[in-house]
Amino acid sequence: MTAASALAALLAFAPVQAADEFERYLQRAKELKEHRDDDLDEGPVLKVLKEHGLLAKAEDGSFRTGFRPFHVRVYGGMWRWPLKAGIVSSEYGKRWGKRHQGIDIAADVGVAVMAAAPGRVLFAGESQGGYGNVVILRHDEKTTTLYAHNEKLLVRANDTVGAGQTIALLGSTGRSTGPHVHFEIRVREKAVNPRKRLVKSRF
Ligand SMILES: [Zn+2]
Repeated sequence: MTAASALAALLAFAPVQAADEFERYLQRAKELKEHRDDDLDEGPVLKVLKEHGLLAKAEDGSFRTGFRPFHVRVYGGMWRWPLKAGIVSSEYGKRWGKRHQGIDIAADVGVAVMAAAPGRVLFAGESQGGYGNVVILRHDEKTTTLYAHNEKLLVRANDTVGAGQTIALLGSTGRSTGPHVHFEIRVREKAVNPRKRLVKSRF
């Protein structure tokens, strides 16, 4: 990717609500350019998923969750972005030979981080894996979302949350070089590309 196309890619995600706001987000994204949280240790995350039965298999080979499925209502068939505005500074996928398990969205410290879909809080606290203050939400039998590097958490384990509900305030805690949310969607243990589920035109 050339520098020009990289910039064009950044611009494409701009909310463009106000020129100065966009400039600020662009600056945040630039600050994060060298950020490498692809080395986040997902061990603690997998531990949480395992504890809640997401990774446990019954003797018949089926997944035993002990969890009542509930319907996930999503926005226009898609999931909501976890921020009202910001710039994606790093996409899901391979970077420097390692896999980035989510997307990074640069924004200002203290802005609302919102639930991407209705669900229940599996974990809210400080993670040992470099994620900083992290929230993990469960949306159905096998799907979870994760919001990392928060400044402050506004939910607790077992809370029920609605789509778009503020669950944390954005920050730069854990292994992070600037304010952003590292956002993951997982189906069982496997992280999937969030852009495949999020509304396309938002950022
Ligand atoms: Zn990240």
